[in-house]
Amino acid sequence: KAKRAAKQDRATPASVGVKISSEEREVFPGEGITKGDLATYYAAIAEPLLLTLGERPMTLIRCPQGRAKHCFFQKHDTGSMGPDVFHVPVKEGDGDTQDYLFVRDARGVLECVQMNTIEFHGWGSRIDPLENPDRLVFDLDPDEGLDFERVKEAAVRLRALLADLGLKTWPMLSGGKGIHVVAPLDQSRDWPAVKGFAERFSRAIAEVEPTMFTANIRKNQRKGRIFLDWLRNQRGATAVMPYSVRAREGAPVAAPVSWEELDGFKGGNAFSIRDVDTLLDRAGTKALAGWCQAKQALPDA
Ligand code: ATP
Ligand code: MN
Ligand code: MN
Repeated sequence: KAKRAAKQDRATPASVGVKISSEEREVFPGEGITKGDLATYYAAIAEPLLLTLGERPMTLIRCPQGRAKHCFFQKHDTGSMGPDVFHVPVKEGDGDTQDYLFVRDARGVLECVQMNTIEFHGWGSRIDPLENPDRLVFDLDPDEGLDFERVKEAAVRLRALLADLGLKTWPMLSGGKGIHVVAPLDQSRDWPAVKGFAERFSRAIAEVEPTMFTANIRKNQRKGRIFLDWLRNQRGATAVMPYSVRAREGAPVAAPVSWEELDGFKGGNAFSIRDVDTLLDRAGTKALAGWCQAKQALPDA
């Protein structure tokens, strides 16, 4: 069993060197979770968070008045972030170039938290090479009210189908209602290839397993099924990053898990910011140490 860094040895906003203002302000109203608590969580979890988030164009969900009031997605640099939040020029579809944000260390993460970030989302590629994704994400979005048992079954089914094509995958509890099934990629293919694969694969699966899956984004098409959201895999799209907090009731966290233990979880929000000890312990265990790490090419299928 891996040893947890003693609580007093853990990184804190102070040890990272980022001043957090209004630490006492409640970010999760009625739950006693403050901006200071959020910063403390992110300082402690920065290392495993950065394994995925680091050097990746990101979208932040910022909630200056707490998670229950107006929150907004921030994609582009507005010059308001700290010195360790970097920007990278990205040519968008319409030919315009915009500065996207990225971080590479705990200082950058905490400077985002200082600016009232709750959620960290990232592209499927790193800033270099920007045009070659290093992860493929299948975002399983269950119909409203669908039992989480069905979502787990669907994730396991997806795992088998992707394994048949030679892709190893790892599951992540989204912190919301679903599961993300993630395959690391070797960056040998570009966005159109990765998106094309994700779309063709999802549509084919929805045809073979029509009672379990739909590849149609329209909510009224879901009908007790799971929408296989392949749209996460196009250039410019994002997915929530492992260990990001969610701006939802209970301060849930997007949590990497292993296939072996998946069956034991009761919902996509099984872990919260209050489980930081458990999350840190788990990150160091054998089951999760190699989470989402494999050198594998996109299948040709
Ligand atoms: P859940 O399990 O509850 O579905 P989720 O994170 O998968 O949680 P989705 O609504 O399925 O939530 O969205 C998937 C991803 O798409 C998000 O994590 C986010 O990165 C991105 N996304 C969703 N809505 C928007 C939006 N309005 N603007 C930008 N990105 C978005
Ligand atoms: Mn989802
Ligand atoms: Mn989705």
